[in-house]
Amino acid sequence: MKSIAFIGLGAMGKPIAERLLHGGYDLTVFDVHRDAMASLLAAGAREATSPKNAAEHAQAVFTMVPDAPDAEEVALGPDGVLHGIRAGTYYVDMSTIDPITTRRIGARLAAAGVKMIDCPVGRTTRHAREGKLVLMMGGESADIDAMMPVFGLLGDTFIRCGPLGNGTATKCVNNYVAMACNAISAEAFVIGTKAGLTPEHMLDVFGSTMASNAQALQVYPQFALSGNTEPGFMMALGHKDLRLAIGLARSYDCAVPVGQATLEVMAQGVEAGLGRKDCSSLLLMHERAAGTTVRLKATGS
Ligand code: NAD
Repeated sequence: MKSIAFIGLGAMGKPIAERLLHGGYDLTVFDVHRDAMASLLAAGAREATSPKNAAEHAQAVFTMVPDAPDAEEVALGPDGVLHGIRAGTYYVDMSTIDPITTRRIGARLAAAGVKMIDCPVGRTTRHAREGKLVLMMGGESADIDAMMPVFGLLGDTFIRCGPLGNGTATKCVNNYVAMACNAISAEAFVIGTKAGLTPEHMLDVFGSTMASNAQALQVYPQFALSGNTEPGFMMALGHKDLRLAIGLARSYDCAVPVGQATLEVMAQGVEAGLGRKDCSSLLLMHERAAGTTVRLKATGS
């Protein structure tokens, strides 16, 4: 395989596409925002005029767009990939969307002879730049095998989730847990501080008990507890992922009381202007309400 089309060149898509270009692939790019393509075009990528046009030139088409309606538009819309892609081409959707949408797209593409893999990713834009993402792959094993040389440029952890849609299902439930841990950790740091504890002390104890979770132990020290609100993982994306997971739960009649409460608190964070900040910035919202500040000593407060 030599030629790849990449659609959606935002915070995650651009560094991934750069790795493909620097990895020697003949790259065609498309984004609805022309500026998003500029650095890749300067580095030698070819510009497409639509998803359809991008797919016409490629042996594999990758997409990395924000939400389920975007993924559906790119794949199946009037100017979508479906109308340009050839039978036998691989279609890899890396967007975090719900598995019901993934499988709907997959069925239409399969009817055109296209081999689809859903491949949402875990970790951050830094990991995307460094080729150290977690790839959660759903689809036929043989198709995943065929794409592994390309995936190998992008990640260091490869999780085979099962048939098409299981990648996005995995990502939905993963982020459901991560965002609930995020929300409860923010509350706990503020409650503990009001009760006279330091964040250092709470981190020590959380790390030694059943309270242990990566949001509290890894994300908070690096971000909110150090006064760093730049993402990381944006609150608006965390909120979107929770919404997707809750929608998925509802389609299976599963109860979501904790997820619903987490969604509401994250919606308050977005409304408070924290949507483009790191998810851990929920701490700031609770600090304001409680009239306190929770910072690690090394950060000077
Ligand atoms: P982003 O908003 O930075 O980028 C999305 C890009 O897609 C934009 O450049 C936008 O112009 C483009 N786009 C939107 N609709 C399009 C369309 N119809 N046709 C062509 N281009 C279109 O978002 P991101 O942070 O890159 O996230 C992309 C996906 O990756 C999301 O599903 C997100 O949940 C997931 N994700 C993000 C992170 C992260 O840390 N940013 C981590 C893991 C997974």
